[in-house]
Amino acid sequence: MTFASLGLIEPLLRAIEALGYQTPSPVQVEAIPTVLKGRDLMAAAQTGTGKTAGFALPLLQRLIQEGPQVASNSVRALVLVPTRELAEQVNESFRVYGQHLPLRNYAVYGGVSINPQMMKLRKGIDVLVATPGRLLDLYRQNAVKFNQLQTLVLDEADRMLDLGFARELDEVFAALPRRRQTLLFSATFSDAIRQMAKELLRDPLSIEVSPRNAAAKSVSQWLIPVDKKRKTELFLHLLEERRWGQVLVFAKTRKGVDQLVESLQAEGIAADSIHGDKPQPSRLRALQRFKDGEVKVLVATDVAARGLDIDDLPLVVNFDLPIVAEDYVHRIGRTGRAGATGEAVSLVCADEVQLLAAIEVLTRQTLSRRDEPGFIPDHRVPQTDASGQVLKKPKKPKKPKEFQSGAGKPGKAKLGSWIDSDKPKVKAVRKAPGFGKANKG
Ligand code: ADP
Ligand code: MG
Repeated sequence: MTFASLGLIEPLLRAIEALGYQTPSPVQVEAIPTVLKGRDLMAAAQTGTGKTAGFALPLLQRLIQEGPQVASNSVRALVLVPTRELAEQVNESFRVYGQHLPLRNYAVYGGVSINPQMMKLRKGIDVLVATPGRLLDLYRQNAVKFNQLQTLVLDEADRMLDLGFARELDEVFAALPRRRQTLLFSATFSDAIRQMAKELLRDPLSIEVSPRNAAAKSVSQWLIPVDKKRKTELFLHLLEERRWGQVLVFAKTRKGVDQLVESLQAEGIAADSIHGDKPQPSRLRALQRFKDGEVKVLVATDVAARGLDIDDLPLVVNFDLPIVAEDYVHRIGRTGRAGATGEAVSLVCADEVQLLAAIEVLTRQTLSRRDEPGFIPDHRVPQTDASGQVLKKPKKPKKPKEFQSGAGKPGKAKLGSWIDSDKPKVKAVRKAPGFGKANKG
């Protein structure tokens, strides 16, 4: 596969060659022909996968081949980015990729004086890279017009939402011509991003690029101490905060499984269960929906999950520790396969200290503890290690009920989001591996 075979014109090929790019990255292979055809595109791809060239090269080509000369104060392509650093960086990429083409590109962002930006826009700009807030300022002052706009690019759309640009974005969208090409790039397809895509994109090609594989197989295992009653709340919090993607969750009992699935569904998160009370066909259906990406969180008991063919998952969560220590090993074996990295996170309450110690003895390791701010337990989880010391201690008498404090209802965590699991998440999503070549930066 070469850049030339993707249909790029000579002045662009010359620029790429000078940069030393030899083969297009997977996201570029998908994006370049699609954008050249004028089709909308939605791509989930981590940083460093070559997205910028994926949209910039075909965009430059379309601008040179189609459409009128840019009029004063007009822009023909608009690239929205979350930060000024990224605005500069993307603008620089346009400059380098388009160095042999007679097109103008420019970046505008806040925190600097607006007047030079207004001056610069007077002549008209082919590719304007902008942060949403400053763009709106310029628009309100009639320094920029969108009637010539052919293409809108949203780069790092998820970060723009995280940074609270939703309102500004809506205002920008409302000002743009409806007939246009729209390209959306995001590290994750959260519900908010999907919603945005639904409103903005027309029959987009969806692609997903998985992260480059880590060199060695490794499952990083750690635990979060938490009060028993707050586990659900903590799980919802982590799902949102850590942008967890697809998760396989293990709970101790059927009842526990059902309760967690209920809480997740109440928050609008696609969750399903696998446990012994379910007939086999409905278990298999749940599993299939999880594999197809329709279900984001699959909650299972050990018995039901054993022997199921669930291959590589980025994340396994032990909502409860297993009664039998060996089950812990089976659980975490669901992740980190085939050279990929995996994470296994255990939510551990004081009641489970014996189970924890047994696991640490069996696996000959001390699981590292990471306190989650806001969830520091009232009931401390005693220190354990691989020596099994705590196993020999006599059980302390239980505190009377009245002393147990703190547990609230699950908080109003927002809808979850998922991130770079190796599985395609959307129907008709095509998966491509990250490109192997080391990148600078
Ligand atoms: P992303 O936007 O996905 O984070 P960038 O577009 O910033 O990625 O590209 C990351 C790095 O990879 C940049 O240094 C870029 O010059 C380089 N790069 C992009 N495409 C290729 C390619 N086909 N071959 C080699 N390097 C590339
Ligand atoms: Mg980028």
